[in-house]
Amino acid sequence: MSSDTVFGRIIRKEIPATIVHEDEHCLVIQDINPQAPVHLLVIPKEPIPRISEAQPEHQALLGHLLLTAKQVAQAHNLTQGYRLVINDGPQGGQTVYHLHIHVLGGREMGWPPG
Ligand code: AMP
Repeated sequence: MSSDTVFGRIIRKEIPATIVHEDEHCLVIQDINPQAPVHLLVIPKEPIPRISEAQPEHQALLGHLLLTAKQVAQAHNLTQGYRLVINDGPQGGQTVYHLHIHVLGGREMGWPPG
């Protein structure tokens, strides 16, 4: 069951995480293995496994996740910009199958991504 990923356990407060934002629909935590000075994960409480499995009924939730990503980036003073990333599936580099948006900032990002 997808809610039994590590993020499901964090949402249910069964294991600890550094939570920087929580509301009715999502949680934002610090990534345990940060790839930039600021590396946050915006995680919906509903355990959608991956963005490729999102449905039209998730439209409002997906919008909420993006606006929350913007809000936490602002709260972390990422005034020079930042990057939002959603990895999908094996070729996309996804390792945790509970949808999440990475918020990366505090350094210049390279392009193309690896
Ligand atoms: P992805 O590879 O896009 O699925 O991203 C999963 C992210 O979750 C990685 O950046 C991991 O470092 C992060 N991660 C895994 N376990 C934890 C945890 N317990 N607390 C915080 N972040 C985690």
